[in-house]
Amino acid sequence: MQNQLTCEQVSALLSFYAEDKLSKKLSEYVRQHLESCPECMEKYMKMKNMLNKFIDIQTREIDNPYATKQYEDFKSNLSAYVDNELNDFENIKIKKIAISNPLARQDLENIYTFKKLLHTSFEKTKNECKNDYSKSVINQLQHENNEVKNTDPFFKLVISFFVMVTFIVAGIISILYF
Ligand SMILES: [Zn+2]
Repeated sequence: MQNQLTCEQVSALLSFYAEDKLSKKLSEYVRQHLESCPECMEKYMKMKNMLNKFIDIQTREIDNPYATKQYEDFKSNLSAYVDNELNDFENIKIKKIAISNPLARQDLENIYTFKKLLHTSFEKTKNECKNDYSKSVINQLQHENNEVKNTDPFFKLVISFFVMVTFIVAGIISILYF
C-alpha cells in the first residue's frame, strides 16, 4: 500500500491519534497500521488507558455528585485530621464525611496508604541507622579491646622494669647504709 506508515511514524503520531487531533486522512492511516501491527496497538492501548485515567482524575470532581462543599471542607482538613491536629468535634465531622462520601473515603485511604508507605521507609531507614550505630559501637569496642591487648604486654614490661629498678635501688641503698 502506498500510504502505509512505519512503526516509528505511528509512534510519533500516537498521542495525537489518541486525542483525536489528526486529520481524517492521517488518522485513517494510523488506524490501518494499528489493525495490522499488534506492537503499535499495544502501545496505543496503554497510551489510551493512561489518557483516560488522566481525564478521569480531571473530571471526577467536576462530574461527581459527591464533590460538594462538605467534601471541600473535608479535603482542607484532611492532613490535619491524619496528623491528629483537630479537636474532637472536627474529628467527628471528618469521620462522618468519610463514612458518607466515597470520594472522601478514597482520599482518606490514599493518604493513610501514603503515610504507611512513608512510615515503612522511615522505619527501614531508622533500622539501618540502628544497625550502623550498633555496628560502629561493636567495632569501637573491638578496637578498644585490641588496644588493651596490644598495650598489655608493654604495660607488664614497664611495670616489671620499675619493680626491678626499685629492688636494685633498694638493694644499693641497703648496702650503702646498713
Ligand atoms: Zn507498528
